[in-house]
Amino acid sequence: MQLQTLRPSPVTPTIDLDKQGVQHGFLRLPYSRDDSAWGSVMIPIAVLRNGDGPTALLTGGNHGDEYEGPIALFDLARTLDINTINGTVIIVPAMNYPAFQAGTRTSPIDKGNMNRSYPGKPDGTVTQKIADYFTRELLPRADVVLDFHSGGKTLDFVPFAAAHILPDKVQEAKGFDAVKAFSAPWSMRMLEIDAVGMYDTTVEEMGKVFVTTELGGGGTARAETVAIAKRGAANVLRHAGILHGAIEHRETRWLDMPSGNCFSFAEDAGLIETMVDLGEAVQEGQLIAQIYPIGRTGAAPAEIRAGITGVLAARHFPGLVKPGDCVAVVGTVD
Ligand SMILES: [Zn+2]
Repeated sequence: MQLQTLRPSPVTPTIDLDKQGVQHGFLRLPYSRDDSAWGSVMIPIAVLRNGDGPTALLTGGNHGDEYEGPIALFDLARTLDINTINGTVIIVPAMNYPAFQAGTRTSPIDKGNMNRSYPGKPDGTVTQKIADYFTRELLPRADVVLDFHSGGKTLDFVPFAAAHILPDKVQEAKGFDAVKAFSAPWSMRMLEIDAVGMYDTTVEEMGKVFVTTELGGGGTARAETVAIAKRGAANVLRHAGILHGAIEHRETRWLDMPSGNCFSFAEDAGLIETMVDLGEAVQEGQLIAQIYPIGRTGAAPAEIRAGITGVLAARHFPGLVKPGDCVAVVGTVD
C-alpha cells in the first residue's frame, strides 16, 4: 500500500489520542449537506490510557444494525477503571456511525457497507473516509483488534468469536488464542465468502492480532449475547495483558468453515420454513429449510439441503427470502 502518497485524512479527533487518562470525544468528519452547510459526522470515541503497555482497538457498529458490540462498548467506555489497565484501550462503539444512527447495515449517506470499504479513501465517500481514518490513523496504533458483529436484520448466528485462517501461521495462532480467551459459547475458524474490502483483511495484512464475532442477530440483542460480548471484551483485554486479572474462561466448541459447501443460498423467492434450529446437528444432504412459493397454493416448496455435515451456525432471519439470499450456514464441529 502506498499510503504515504495519499492526502491527509479529513477526520479530526476532538481528543488527544496519546494523552494519559480517560478521554471521551469524537472523530469529527466534515460532511456538508442540506441541513448543515458546514456540518460534520461526529463518531463517538473513548481513549483510556494508563502507562505504555499494549494498545487494543475495540469496535462495534461496523454494520449499523448489529447491537451487542455497541452495547458492550458504550458500557465498557463508561465503566472501565483506568487504574485496572496497563496500556491503551481505544473504543469506537459504532464505526459506521451514520448507519448505526439509522439502524441500517449500510450508511444512509452513501449506501457504503463499511466492511466492504477498506482500506478506504481520504477523498472518497463518507464511509470510505471513515475506513481510511481507521486504516492510517487508528490501526497502526493497535496491537490487538476486536471488531464486534452480529447477524443484523437478515441473519441470526449461534454466538461465536472468530479468527481467520491466515498464511502466517504464527499470526493465525495468536488470533485463535485470542478467540479462545474471548470465551464465547462457540469459536470459529473462519472462511470468508468475499474478503475483499473487509476491515478484517486490512487489519490482518498489517500483522495485527484480530478477533471478530457473530453474536446473534435479527436486528436486536439479547441478554445472553450482550453478556457474552461484555465478558469477551474484558477477556481479550486481559489476554492482551492490558486489563489486570485472570481470564474468565468458559467452555467453547470450535467450528470450522472448511469450504463453500458451508453456505446455502436461495434460488427462489418465497416463504422460508427453517427445519433446523441454530446449534442443531445436521447431516450432509439433510433437508434444512424449504421455500414456499407464495403466489398460489398447490406448488411444491424449493428444498434447501445441507452441503456438509456439522451444526447450523447461521440462518436467514426474516420469514421471506429472495433469490441469492444466504439462508443457512453449516459449520463443522471439531
Ligand atoms: Zn456485521
